Order: sequence, then structure tokens, then C-alpha cells
Amino acid sequence: MASIMSYLSMNNGLRMPAVGLGTYLMKGDALKRAVDYALFLGYRHIDTALSYGNEVEVGEVIKDRIRAGKNKRKDLFITTKVPCAYLERDAAIKSAEMSLESLKQTHVDLLLIHQPWGNVNRGVGTLKPLNSKGERELKHHDLLETWSAFEQMHGQNWAKSIGVSNFNPEQIQRIWDKAKIKPANLQLEAHAYWQQKKLVEFCGEKNIILTAYSPLGAPSKPDKKPEDLVLLEDPQVKQLSFEYKKTPGQILLNFLLLKGMGVLPKSQNFERIKDNLDIFDWKLSSSDFEKLLKLDNTVKYFTNEWAHRHPEFDKSEPF
Ligand code: NAP
Repeated sequence: MASIMSYLSMNNGLRMPAVGLGTYLMKGDALKRAVDYALFLGYRHIDTALSYGNEVEVGEVIKDRIRAGKNKRKDLFITTKVPCAYLERDAAIKSAEMSLESLKQTHVDLLLIHQPWGNVNRGVGTLKPLNSKGERELKHHDLLETWSAFEQMHGQNWAKSIGVSNFNPEQIQRIWDKAKIKPANLQLEAHAYWQQKKLVEFCGEKNIILTAYSPLGAPSKPDKKPEDLVLLEDPQVKQLSFEYKKTPGQILLNFLLLKGMGVLPKSQNFERIKDNLDIFDWKLSSSDFEKLLKLDNTVKYFTNEWAHRHPEFDKSEPF
């Protein structure tokens, strides 16, 4: 069992704050208040994406706080992502350019390929192009071409670090073998119900740091299956919450930190934003950590069913 780190060291010598505020599904004033409060409390890492449609608001808060002397840019870690409709070289560069403009930044700290499953690119505003049956229009894209665009953007200092999200070992290896700049980070669905042992080991060997998305089990995911168990209500998690006098959310985040991962809890509730940062100066005992290890392989909340038809989709994964 690892010790708890507030920063994770990347294979390029830079470091990432281990906790970041997730911003998926957050917009407008609620998002602005949440980001502002998180930065006030001491969060230094904000996770967004072009497809979240909220980079303008994230950028406004960051700019205002820096202008007011409340934060220094060098202390902040901003992550954004190029969506799967923009995997071709020029589109990937355009996408990052749009993100930088929205965020009002000259660079981000981490730029990720959001998903490996390419979609048809029908231009700005059509991130999810649909065919006549209402299904996403999928398209094979050469991920090496996308990566080479990422290396170019890294060289231009648009992104201090570059990485991938939702990739499997084979896709990472393909990039790794040809890359001049190695992927520094994998963002993946990871929580007590879906611990991704295979990916964790694979990335550990390459010193690719991991960031867990949906670390609380994405309880407000709009298209969740009614039969899926709710991680925050798991009896084992609730028992530990009672014993440690911590919330179920804090138990789940502390577990992932002990696994050596970064975490991106999303919250727009001030109390929970605060709780989700109070996860560093205590830790689960090894025997309690072991209890949570046993919850693995219960539910993957992001099944990405639309991607199952894509040639890049890994059908060996137990979805
Ligand atoms: P999550 O962080 O697991 O769960 C967020 C939900 O939990 C919200 O409904 C939030 O409600 C609630 N919550 C937050 N803290 C809580 C606590 N301590 N106790 C109880 N409930 C709590 O789910 P997520 O938003 O899916 O994932 C987190 C972030 O990961 C995203 O926001 C995004 O930045 C990133 N992400 C990346 C990908 C990818 O493909 N790379 C995919 C999904 C997510 P309140 O707001 O009301 O607190």
C-alpha cells in the first residue's frame, strides 16, 4: 500500500496535483462558484474538456483570481481534452486552439486525447455527429497521427504534458513505441467498483501516472442503468465511513490515493468540495484497504455503448 501523495510525479519530470476538481456536467454560475471556491480552498488542479462546453467559465474564474492576486498561474494545473470527433491532425490542433482561447490561456498543463474511438468530424459544434438511425457516426482515425499533432503542440508549449484517456494497453503501446514524447498520463474510469488492475500494472511499468475519473461512481450520470449498484451506498463503504468518521466519498477518494492514483471528484456543493479535499492527512489501514480491493469488478458506469461498433474498441474488456 503506497503512502498518500498530494502531487504525483510524471515521467517527464513535472508533477500533477493528486486531487483535481472534475467539471463534467457543470456549467454557468454554479460551475464558476464551484471552481472559485475550490481554488480558494486549495485545489490546484481543474479538469475540463472541449466537449464539456464549460471552458469559457473555467477560464474566466482562473483569469479573475490571478488578476486579483488570489492565485498564481504557475501553481495551477489545468487539464483539457481533444474530443473524439477531432482526432485528425489539423482538427486536433484546431480543437486545442479553441480550448486555449476559451480558457484564456497560452498553455494547459495537460492535454489529453479524450477517447480513442474516432467520430466523423463535421466541424465545430457537431461533437457527436449522428447517422440517420440516430447513432454516432464512427470513423477509424490513426491515433499516431493524433499523437504527432500532440507532440507538435507540446513543442509549441501549448501543453506542458500530453496524455490519453479511455485508452487500453494496446492503444497506449502503439503510441509509446513511436512516440518522441511519451504519454505522461492516462485518465481512466477508476473507483472501488472498477479498479482496472490490468491497466494500472501496464501504466506502472511505464511510469505513466493515472488519474481516476468518476472516483465516486458518477452518481449523477444521466444515462446510468437502473440496475447498477450505487458505489456511495455500498455497505462496506458505509461501514468504513462510520468507523473512520469520514463520508463515503472521502473513504473512496482516500482508497484511490492509496492506490497511487490522482482523483477528480466533481462537486458543485460547497460542503462536498471541502470534504473531497480532506483526504490527505489520514489513511485507511491496510486491512480496510484490502476490504475495498475486494469490491473490484462490480460495475463499470461508462460502458460507452456507442463505441462498441468502433474498430478501436477493445472487445476483450468485460463490459
Ligand atoms: P464523480 O466525481 O464520481 O461523481 C460526481 C457526483 O458525485 C456529483 O453528482 C456530485 O454531486 C456527487 N458528489 C461529489 N462529492 C461527493 C461526496 N463527497 N459525497 C457524495 N456525493 C458527492 O463523477 P464524474 O463527474 O463522472 O467524474 C469526475 C470528473 O472526471 C468529471 O467531472 C470529469 O472532469 C472527469 N471525467 C472524465 C471522463 C473521461 O472520459 N476522461 C469521463 C467522465 C468524467 P454534487 O455536485 O451535488 O456534490
